[in-house]
Amino acid sequence: MFSYRHAFHAGNHADVLKHITLVATLQHLQLKEGGLTLVDTHAGAGLYRLDGDYSETGGEAQDGIFKLLGTLDALAAKKGAKPLPQALQAYLDMIASFNPQGQAKVYPGSPFILHHLLRKQARDRIRLFEMHPTDSKSLAANVAQLDAGRSIMLAREDGFESLKKLLPPPASATGSKRAMVLIDPSYEIKSDYPKVSASIQDCLKRFPTGTYLVWYPIIARTEAHDLPRRLKTLSNQSQKPWLNATLAIGRNTDGSSAGLSASGMFVINPPFTLKEKLKEALAVVGPALARGTGHSWEVEHS
Ligand code: SAM
Repeated sequence: MFSYRHAFHAGNHADVLKHITLVATLQHLQLKEGGLTLVDTHAGAGLYRLDGDYSETGGEAQDGIFKLLGTLDALAAKKGAKPLPQALQAYLDMIASFNPQGQAKVYPGSPFILHHLLRKQARDRIRLFEMHPTDSKSLAANVAQLDAGRSIMLAREDGFESLKKLLPPPASATGSKRAMVLIDPSYEIKSDYPKVSASIQDCLKRFPTGTYLVWYPIIARTEAHDLPRRLKTLSNQSQKPWLNATLAIGRNTDGSSAGLSASGMFVINPPFTLKEKLKEALAVVGPALARGTGHSWEVEHS
């Protein structure tokens, strides 16, 4: 338990898919005035250096954000290059705002992405949970720099359990109850898969109108294969719309170890614009990150 450290993986293809989806979803929800409760059940450390020891060891950003930025730079240099899809541009703008010197040296994790988009006037509030002893300390130190007051609260608690206390969310100043929840476990233990399903089942009972985002790895493991199927069934049983976006970057043809090569984002009660936005974004991101064989992307929906 707790061998997973997100710093080794920050900015990889899975983060690219996850964070494009997160930004596009939240930006749409924020078109309405009412304040949002934003929950990140598995928060990580919050902020990562892409030139630090961890990321160099993993080097996963090379096949993720670095490759994406490099490919887009090359495309932009060509005459007649088209503007980027809105969801992709919004994600890149967010990354750029953390790297004012130009080069991407810092990668924001989900807590910092949420904070970047937080609307103080609307009284959005962020609730973060992180269990790892070191990462929860790093997260606390990183969040302390934000001077965010009570708009952010964090705890070294089990995100699955603590989520229950937060739903339904309190009413905002406009009287509406609104929440977006990101469930992003490391799946280092098999029990994370049934815990995600059980948590979604519980969330849909406690607060059926919330927007729920679940990241999952696409790997040769029965539990991983079953999870999106189970989430579809739970959404359909509750008569809630869903969307399932997947990105597979393919396997190196030279046979070198490629690590995780595919993942998905399952969204329950997605904004109605998300399907088109993700299709447009992945039509650029998919080919930009593709390598070797077996690369693909898809946006499936109810
Ligand atoms: N959401 C982060 C992001 O997008 O930047 C990345 C999170 S990482 C994939 C998963 C994190 O969950 C790890 O930092 C791990 O220590 C933490 N974790 C594992 N089990 C947990 C639990 N039951 N509750 C809260 N955090 C947990």
